[in-house]
Amino acid sequence: MGDRIVITGAAGFIGSHLAEALLERGDAVVAIDNLSTGDPANIAHLADRDFRFIRHDVSNYISLEGPVDAVLHWASPASPIDYLERPIPTLKVGALGTHNALGLAKAKQARFVLASTSEVYGDPLEHPQTESYWGNVNPIGPRGVYDEAKRFAEAMTTAYHRYHGIDTKIVRIFNTYGPRMRIRDGRAVPNFIAQALRGEDLTIYGDGTQTRSFCYISDLVDGILRLLRSDTNDPVNIGNPNEMTVAGIAERIIRLTGSASRIVHQPLPVDDPKVRQPDIGRARRILDWEPRVSLTEGLTKTIAFVRNALADVRQR
Ligand code: UDP
Repeated sequence: MGDRIVITGAAGFIGSHLAEALLERGDAVVAIDNLSTGDPANIAHLADRDFRFIRHDVSNYISLEGPVDAVLHWASPASPIDYLERPIPTLKVGALGTHNALGLAKAKQARFVLASTSEVYGDPLEHPQTESYWGNVNPIGPRGVYDEAKRFAEAMTTAYHRYHGIDTKIVRIFNTYGPRMRIRDGRAVPNFIAQALRGEDLTIYGDGTQTRSFCYISDLVDGILRLLRSDTNDPVNIGNPNEMTVAGIAERIIRLTGSASRIVHQPLPVDDPKVRQPDIGRARRILDWEPRVSLTEGLTKTIAFVRNALADVRQR
């Protein structure tokens, strides 16, 4: 028999892919989501499996009958426009939600995985970012609500490990893309693909020389499942070290979609990190993990998804 695993935020982009992978390997999944940024369509195809959905905001006490082997805490707004629109729920789910999810893990003596983020490094002064770097975060800037919530969540998770002996894991997720990202979630990859497919201008914020490193969703999920099985309680970066400029990814998307779209520049958001690249030495060493999906392959699949989603919208 497989494990029984709780995923908070299971109707989101990454949460739904995690749920699918766990069901695939024979686990039972309890999905909890308040659907503030998640979408029931992401999990509709899982309904006939060993899958239960509970609509609940995990910033409030989580009550669940029966044994639980692991709690994966994924609930949180995660794209810059989402957390700018929902600053207080973002702080609450990172703080109160993490406390409640850890409380559930403690009550059930379950393993716990926190979805943390490269945002804990802020606008980094160390490049690439290793897990030992403490970061450069503006606590009162617009992104602070997300960054500080996740930093607090890491502190809370570590305290539950040290003081309650819970087997906790922390994954620091770098920019990830793939099918089921919301087209309107404002992030670079879905924005650029949707703009290219509609023949609109691609909106580059700032001069486009800022860098990111984009990881395809199946590589991320593979890393998280390896982390869940591992013995480590230290944070682990999971991301693709293939760093490129934002202008570079925009141009790649124009080429792959065969679009005639042009590039326009818009103001750079406040505190937008100038560089970001994971050092994945620890993941390689401890998890024997590294990304396998090339940017061209990942983008081709994501473009097909966005094309379908746009066609659906037109048909409705
Ligand atoms: N970006 C952009 N145009 C867009 C959306 C994003 O130039 O339409 C830039 C954004 O300013 C940032 C990078 O692309 O420098 C990645 O942004 P995203 O929102 O995907 O995630 P972040 O890495 O900032 O959390």
